[in-house]
Amino acid sequence: MIKSFFDSNNIEYKENISLKKYNTYRLDTKCSYLVFPKTCNELILLLKELKKEKIPYLVLGNGSNIIFSMPTYTGVIIKLDYLNKVTYKDNTVTAEAGYSLIKLAMDTVEKGLSGLEFAAAIPGCVGASTAMNAGAYNSDISNVIESVKILTPDYKIINKSKEELSFSYRDSFLKQNKDYIVLSTTFKLLPGDKETMLNQIKERREKRIASQPLDMPSAGSVFRNPEGMYAGALIEAAKLKGYCIGDAMISEKHANFIVNKGNATGKEIIKLIEKIQKEVKDNYHIDLKLEQIIIE
Ligand SMILES: Cc1cc2nc3c(=O)[nH]c(=O)nc-3n(C[C@H](O)[C@H](O)[C@H](O)COP(=O)(O)OP(=O)(O)OC[C@H]3O[C@@H](n4cnc5c(N)ncnc54)[C@H](O)[C@@H]3O)c2cc1C
Repeated sequence: MIKSFFDSNNIEYKENISLKKYNTYRLDTKCSYLVFPKTCNELILLLKELKKEKIPYLVLGNGSNIIFSMPTYTGVIIKLDYLNKVTYKDNTVTAEAGYSLIKLAMDTVEKGLSGLEFAAAIPGCVGASTAMNAGAYNSDISNVIESVKILTPDYKIINKSKEELSFSYRDSFLKQNKDYIVLSTTFKLLPGDKETMLNQIKERREKRIASQPLDMPSAGSVFRNPEGMYAGALIEAAKLKGYCIGDAMISEKHANFIVNKGNATGKEIIKLIEKIQKEVKDNYHIDLKLEQIIIE
């Protein structure tokens, strides 16, 4: 039924596929339909149909902060890859949701604009990273956001200023309200010295390569850092580095990373998360809060 809707409306989709290359843990979850709306109007048309047919959906960015918990995702996965335009006006830049955050950080630095250097190694898309308030080095995306264009659950396109979106550490109104979809984000940047920015990015990249297991599939930091502490240090102190459940392993290189040694499943990763939470709670009386998002 939904397939004939895609066909009759000329909506691009893939059918019965593995999501392995669409999530950075490389979990081999299957889904019936992966859909690529070409425009915002097509996205609205699609969402209306899914609502009418009571079909659940997930808007997926680069899959770099999620854990597919099941062998099959039963709804429709929407990818906004075609929403990828970027426009510049003086020191502001507007990027559509599907654009790569790393690319945007590098583009803006190339143009001598400063503010997004911190994001030069965050492998997400602009839309999801806005909702997640992605950040690093004591900076985050909300620091440089001017406004966000959003599709509301009743299909209105609205602009919200940063102040209206309740941004906080890795959190926002948009993360809490999944039926609001980021269409584009406008960033207010400042003039900066290109060479200085490039050197800083290079230095930070080298540090990441030295300290993080970037050669293995993961979804970055598993837990938020508790106030004044590092989640990785607590996990390491609990002697959990290298601990495995199936092919899911607590990285030997950085304890706040879980890596996929080959054929890990979402269930194994979730069991490992629960094990870490229990050990850290038993040993240090601290509740570690998950940064990654579990997709049911
Ligand atoms: C090696 C590595 C290093 C990382 N380092 C960092 C880091 O330094 N700092 C940091 O903050 N994160 C880091 N991350 C995590 C991750 O890259 C960020 O959270 C990123 O912002 C997620 O973007 P994504 O496009 O991959 O989102 P996804 O994982 O695809 O989605 C995340 C959530 O956003 C929702 N979403 C997707 N698109 C939209 C949209 N258009 N509108 C509203 N919601 C949407 C999804 O439904 C999902 O709930 C790292 C990950 C890896 C693998």
